[in-house]
Amino acid sequence: MATFSINLKDGTIVKPSELIVGIDLGTTNSLVAYMKDGAAHCVKSADGKSALVPSVIYFAPDHQVIVGDEAKEKLITDPGNTIFSIKRLMGKSYQDIAGHSAYFGYQIIDEDREALVKIRVKDKFYTPIELSALILQELKKRVEAELKVPVSKAVITVPAYFNDNQRQATRDAGKLAGLEVLRIVNEPTAAALAYDPAESGTIAVYDLGGGTFDVSLLQIEGGIYEVLSTNGDTFLGGDDFDKAIVEHWMTQLGIPVERLRSDKHFSQEIRLAAESAKKHLSTFDSFDAQIDDLPLALTRVEFEQLIQPLVDRTLQCCKNALKDAALGIQDIQKVVMVGGSTRVPLVKKVVSEFFKQPVFDEINPDEVVALGAAIQADILAGNQQDVLLLDVTPLSLGIETVGGLMDTIIPRNSKVPSKAGRQYTTSVDGQKNLKVAVYQGERDLVEHNRKLGEFILSNIPAMPAGMPKIDIQFILNADGILTVRARELRSGLETQVEIKPTYGITEEEMGMMLLDSIQNAQSDIAIRGLLEARNEAQNLLLSGEKFLKQHDAILSAAEISETRQLLQTLKDACAGSDKDLIHRQIEALNEYTTPLAHRAMDSAIGNAMKGKRV
Ligand code: AMP
Repeated sequence: MATFSINLKDGTIVKPSELIVGIDLGTTNSLVAYMKDGAAHCVKSADGKSALVPSVIYFAPDHQVIVGDEAKEKLITDPGNTIFSIKRLMGKSYQDIAGHSAYFGYQIIDEDREALVKIRVKDKFYTPIELSALILQELKKRVEAELKVPVSKAVITVPAYFNDNQRQATRDAGKLAGLEVLRIVNEPTAAALAYDPAESGTIAVYDLGGGTFDVSLLQIEGGIYEVLSTNGDTFLGGDDFDKAIVEHWMTQLGIPVERLRSDKHFSQEIRLAAESAKKHLSTFDSFDAQIDDLPLALTRVEFEQLIQPLVDRTLQCCKNALKDAALGIQDIQKVVMVGGSTRVPLVKKVVSEFFKQPVFDEINPDEVVALGAAIQADILAGNQQDVLLLDVTPLSLGIETVGGLMDTIIPRNSKVPSKAGRQYTTSVDGQKNLKVAVYQGERDLVEHNRKLGEFILSNIPAMPAGMPKIDIQFILNADGILTVRARELRSGLETQVEIKPTYGITEEEMGMMLLDSIQNAQSDIAIRGLLEARNEAQNLLLSGEKFLKQHDAILSAAEISETRQLLQTLKDACAGSDKDLIHRQIEALNEYTTPLAHRAMDSAIGNAMKGKRV
């Protein structure tokens, strides 16, 4: 029940402002922030030093679950029971992360390559959702301890490229942690909000964190935040810088890569040494250390050579984002740096050179997303009504139509939330069921796109082909989660599903899907033309047969035989792949049968009029 206070001086009713916290659930670190006196604050550790809660979970021998700094220390001493980088596994199947599994110190279950990943700790299996919920619980505990009130509502940020499944998984993790997730917000959008909710212009948000890279181009005008385009890579971040250093050291010292797999203790220790080296080199020119009597050294110049290809990959994403938004570098008024890895001097230098301007880095790049999430939470609580957020969907969404063609309903880069629909019909007389298969991607044939799910609209009342009117609506909510609704308009029959894909998609795949669609555009058009011709011919063949059956009384033997002959020729043409031949046969059949159809119609009208007085 809602409670209100009444201001006895002027009689106004004051609704207590609702506390909604903002959470940055990061790959490496997570943070929670809230609004106080009109400004966003991050909850700091007990010693007041840092707001970062390492996204690391330790399962202690006494069954205690420890999250944060203390758990991070266990990465070395007890790697098998210590979980990190769980965000990389959100909504993923084993197949999706193949090739990266050696990098995780813990055990990933791979019994079914297509199933969602599970992690084994001791004798229990955990989903990434359950593990993320443990991190969220810790954040909830910290903010409650600081504010001394229970917290039950949150806004959680995700990378702009998270798909439906990954967003849904994040939402489920929140629920499991006892938090109602009011909104899933893209990280770059949150960062832009933190910089200046009231500003105007076109800005680029460059977010290089521990595990993911995102670049978003945002247009901000009159308090409206609109994401013009997004691009990124979920397997590119500071962790990869660490990995590059580890590989460099292993080669230099002649240690076989196999040792990373067989010696978990060593693998974690060298990984942490690599991270220390990287951070050290953000300020100093060289690094020296020793583990297990192994000398580890690295200079800033060497480090920069190692990571140059990785940094270059982020620039390719920037180019793609600009292209998608039809913008040039000169259109970008501000470049905002987000994520711990933007502290690397080479990253700042390269990005600044690319955009031909100095970058904005004055807000702590670790906190900026959480601070923005708190501001978004404040907007949702109704405290900042003049700010609106608009995001876009990264890939087109559509359904499969006859012949395996993709019929796009919501095109890529459409604003979310968004709703679009189209009417379809049946292709067979008396058809009772209609399968609605939902796909994501840019190619003309669904087989080249990614299937998100399917459902069946069943018990359609028996009607001739083409009679039912089936309205299919795609409703994409503000979190980017898709609901598909199918309704037969004549009977009111309705079915709907919320699409939760069986497993996730990597940004490499997403990039490949976009690239494919460009490279194969020509052949796709040719295939689409052929399939459409075949579909048209198929419909004509069906109605031609039906016409012969219904009207044989008014047709001569020669007419029946000629029509049959034309139907057969069309059927033969359909078996081949000459689209133009199919079109010619369709025309020939139409030309011959149109007068016959008119005669049939006249005769039907004549019969109906018989015996009736006018
Ligand atoms: P985030 O996901 O935004 O928390 O970013 C974490 C990443 O930033 C990790 O890979 C850290 O190693 C990296 N990082 C943090 N501080 C620094 C620093 N001073 N120099 C370079 N990388 C850093």
